[in-house]
Amino acid sequence: MSASDLSQEKPDVVVIGAGNAALCSAISAHENGANVLILEAAPLERRGGNSHFTGGAFRFAYNGIEDLQEICTDMTEQEINEVDYGTYTEEQFFDDMFELTKFRTDPDLCEILVRNSFETAKWVSRQGVKLRPGLGRQAFKVDGRFKFWGGLALHIWGGGPDMMKALYDNAESKRIRIYYETPAVSLLRSGNRVVGVIAQHQGKTVEIPAKAVVLACGSFESNPQMRAQYLGRNWDVAKVRGTQYNMGAGLRMAMECGARPHGNWSGCHSVAWDVNAPPYGDLTIGDQFQKHNYPFGIIVNSNGERYVDEGANFHSHTYAKYGGIILEQPDMNVWQVFDAKVAHLLRSEYRIRRVTKAESDTLEGLAGMLEGVDGTRFLETVKQFNKACKTDIPFNPNVLDGRCTEGLAVNKTNWANPLDTPPYHAYHVTTGVTFTFGGVKVTTKAEIEDQYGGMIPGLYAAGEMVGGLFYNNYASGTGLMSGAVFGRLAGKNAARFAKECDSAQSATMAD
Ligand SMILES: Cc1cc2nc3c(=O)[nH]c(=O)nc-3n(C[C@H](O)[C@H](O)[C@H](O)COP(=O)(O)OP(=O)(O)OC[C@H]3O[C@@H](n4cnc5c(N)ncnc54)[C@H](O)[C@@H]3O)c2cc1C
Repeated sequence: MSASDLSQEKPDVVVIGAGNAALCSAISAHENGANVLILEAAPLERRGGNSHFTGGAFRFAYNGIEDLQEICTDMTEQEINEVDYGTYTEEQFFDDMFELTKFRTDPDLCEILVRNSFETAKWVSRQGVKLRPGLGRQAFKVDGRFKFWGGLALHIWGGGPDMMKALYDNAESKRIRIYYETPAVSLLRSGNRVVGVIAQHQGKTVEIPAKAVVLACGSFESNPQMRAQYLGRNWDVAKVRGTQYNMGAGLRMAMECGARPHGNWSGCHSVAWDVNAPPYGDLTIGDQFQKHNYPFGIIVNSNGERYVDEGANFHSHTYAKYGGIILEQPDMNVWQVFDAKVAHLLRSEYRIRRVTKAESDTLEGLAGMLEGVDGTRFLETVKQFNKACKTDIPFNPNVLDGRCTEGLAVNKTNWANPLDTPPYHAYHVTTGVTFTFGGVKVTTKAEIEDQYGGMIPGLYAAGEMVGGLFYNNYASGTGLMSGAVFGRLAGKNAARFAKECDSAQSATMAD
């Protein structure tokens, strides 16, 4: 669409960004009667933000299979009869949020997230996003039966690409206009109220008046300068798992209007990521550079030493914080090592063609292949580890099996198997940043608060821009759910605010 088209736009609500949170906002604002416009910094072919890169883990509370069938209406007989879905109650979701954030999560925002998660999963599926049982990723087959171990029973089918396609199709069917290659650069204000956006479009600066603005344009994970500034030393050299466009512009625009920073500005979500992955995400690979199955092996640094309890919990409870610890290791990269016994438990991400892998029939052979690693020390580490495994405790990947090591400087708490069955295989990984935790303070209506406890009228936030939910760690599948919950809320309340503006204007004209 041309610059002149954009300069003639007078929407009720402008949504900045076109990832999951933004599209949920836009669809919700439209559902609530608003005329909606979306501005997206990326070109059409790179649209979708981090949301596009996701594997589709989607965390919501449910009380049993009946709840899941409300969302996934076409479960097969096999999926109904041969799978133990267990429950993931609101209490379990709260427990995970509290445990993982060490009780720092903002209680009001956490309550909104958890209590709205099931309804929002249903709403998202009504928008055309398909959810299916996530067998294989979140459930292992033991004694002929799949059992879900982490509460993530339904996955977004087709992951981020299919989710985003469904949301784009939905928005387009509602004639919500999306302008690509149109980054918002600042907000228009009248007094303390936000009354529109200034954007760059086709080499021109365009002012777009609007009654309300939703900021849903990610956090600052793509910006090495901000990562170094807020996360600290070495974070500028970490790889970025997703989009290159989340430069912190939304946070800057909000702060320029006096927004209150909130949450864990020195914290982020980061994972073990292939050492040879490109600096930013590759849409053809999606999330497959990640390597999440370390609980079934050991991780060694360049000194040939283990430095972390690989089996402290299911990967979904540790992966988001263990990624950052790699930056603290010599050379800022490490190797995940497995033997043949657990090869069948490794997810598809270990079998992609673009993987940095070493494999050998002997541990000595492998030691020589682990680039940068002290091989002698590595062999000692494995010997000590093997001796320390409590093999009398049965191995079970579906539960915290307590099969631990004893007597090591760094013990492994669960799934401790001696490395004794060739071939041995190892994967070279570094830190990949997913998203940063710091954001702005929002109310339970997704309105952005100012620094002194008031509201910035007309300004809303959703998705990664919402600060205060995650501290230090994260439960997988919560990012998309948070984007959907707060996106939906922000869209609804922005539309209502726009209507109130209309009523106030009509009343003034009638006076
Ligand atoms: C590889 C990977 C795998 C992941 N897997 C999962 C998963 O399985 N489950 C899960 O829950 N979460 C997952 N996440 C996290 C999840 O992607 C994010 O939490 C979530 O998608 C963030 O949504 P969002 O809409 O806030 O941001 P985004 O989806 O990043 O959207 C922000 C948009 O804003 C645009 N933008 C930025 N600046 C501007 C500007 N100035 N003007 C206009 N537009 C702008 C960007 O281009 C982008 O399109 C994963 C992330 C990655 C990177």
